[in-house]
Amino acid sequence: MSKRALVPLWLLGLALSGACSRTDSADVVLRHGAIYPEAGDSGTVESLAVRNGRIVYTGTDRGVRSYIGDRTEVIELGGRMVLPGFHDTHMHPSGGITLAECTLDDLATPEAILDSVSRYATTHPALAWIRGRGWQLPVFPEANPRREWLDRVVPDRPVYLTAADGHSAWVNSKALALAGITHDTKDPPNGRIERDPLTGEPTGTLREQAEELVARLLPARTQEETRAGLVRALGMANRFGITTVHEANAGPDLLQAYAMLDSAGQLSARVIAALQTDPKAGPGQVDSLRAWRGRYRGTRYYSPKAAKIFADGVIEAKTAALLAPYTGSDTPGEPNLSPAAMDTLVAALDAAGFQVHVHAIGDRAVRMSLDAFEFARRHNGPRDARPIIAHLELIDPADIPRFAALGVIPSFQPLWAYADKYITDLTVPILGPERSRWLYPIASVARTGAHLAAGSDWSVSSMNPFEAIQVAITRRAPDAPPGPPWIPEETVDLPTMLRAYTSGGAYAAGEEASNGDLEVGKAADLIVLDRNLYRIPVTELHAVHVLLTLLDGKTVWRDRTLH
Ligand SMILES: [Zn+2]
Repeated sequence: MSKRALVPLWLLGLALSGACSRTDSADVVLRHGAIYPEAGDSGTVESLAVRNGRIVYTGTDRGVRSYIGDRTEVIELGGRMVLPGFHDTHMHPSGGITLAECTLDDLATPEAILDSVSRYATTHPALAWIRGRGWQLPVFPEANPRREWLDRVVPDRPVYLTAADGHSAWVNSKALALAGITHDTKDPPNGRIERDPLTGEPTGTLREQAEELVARLLPARTQEETRAGLVRALGMANRFGITTVHEANAGPDLLQAYAMLDSAGQLSARVIAALQTDPKAGPGQVDSLRAWRGRYRGTRYYSPKAAKIFADGVIEAKTAALLAPYTGSDTPGEPNLSPAAMDTLVAALDAAGFQVHVHAIGDRAVRMSLDAFEFARRHNGPRDARPIIAHLELIDPADIPRFAALGVIPSFQPLWAYADKYITDLTVPILGPERSRWLYPIASVARTGAHLAAGSDWSVSSMNPFEAIQVAITRRAPDAPPGPPWIPEETVDLPTMLRAYTSGGAYAAGEEASNGDLEVGKAADLIVLDRNLYRIPVTELHAVHVLLTLLDGKTVWRDRTLH
């Protein structure tokens, strides 16, 4: 085959048109900038041109001139930094739905939370249920808020408030009564009804599957509410420079909502959706997942090609699966499915061509996931499967080299990797110092050559990638002054993190041929920043603003200060 036949036609046109005046001038030109075609590399160009959603030129200001025609939008960068758009390799855009409900994320005391719930209830007198999310576990003793406190502010209607991490729910007495949860109700599998140690009465906090006992009574959201929530979340993502997201847990409603938004041209970021699986249902569920996937063909913006498995819970509530018991306890926490069940489910999903995306927090859940990917590879033969493990809070050092060896993509949530109250009050005391050394071992995993990716887990925590990048580098709170890092061995550098959010993300999405860097021919998914990340103190990273976000060359976010 001749070499020319491999060159796309539009590139050919570009080559032939030379320096003479073009009929095919660019749609958008960015010039006089510090454009980093590869985010993790210090090499820059001054200018970039976009036509039909793709990058057609990168180079000098002089060279870009011939791309400027009558209808070209020229953006004067004034030396500003340009990077490829960011990938968030684990988030829950459905959190956008709850932004319209009672949100409790930033409240630091029980009083503030109760005030907020009370205000919300008063201003929404017609709602049958008071519903909300975002309370932080460390605000309450042992992460265990009580129903009586809610009863005081909302005695007459049921209240259902999920914690920021989604793994606990706090309800009032009315909600418990409607669900028929009493002293005699047994804990469901993979769930716990917190009880008063003296009376055995339910206290109002429900863990994991126990949440469902009440959640199933909640009025269903309408498709309009769902779609509006997703649009809201993706719009937020664009403001943070995010152009691709992995929807980490999509049930039928969400799959349908994304498909409708996609066909209406309303997706402002590329969405890789991971279909929800039931850890108890075994490989028998794969046929129906396949049918769901088949209903929505993959497009440029929507690809429901992944499947999500929750391998365990969270450490703070002792629902994460550990290799050895929690300190001061004789239980290591149970995984949501047995190792054998995990192996067969992962192998069946892999054989059906799904990209398996696992939630694993405890070192046992991480090991089980790696074992299952190894099993699937043996069982199905090797393929370019790119499985993802997200969260990776605690990894046994013996398992660290296995990510690179097995081609498993580690998707860390770097914002979690500093000693906040979740760590100091709720995690280290129940892991002990020896194991705690291996909390979020980002550098150790990166050093093995694994394809590092990163995500926010929003709405569990902030969506802002600049905060997360800073924390990965400093292992300190985003707003903390310079000082000693928490577990200094695990700090990484800026290029490593920028790669994780761009080319690493594109690899995790299976899109490295079309985005993740700003090479000619790739999609014009790019961002303009108000500061150059390479030229500011690391403690300033969290305050960086995105001025412009392009997806396929289209503006999906533009700050008013960018002229
Ligand atoms: Zn998640």
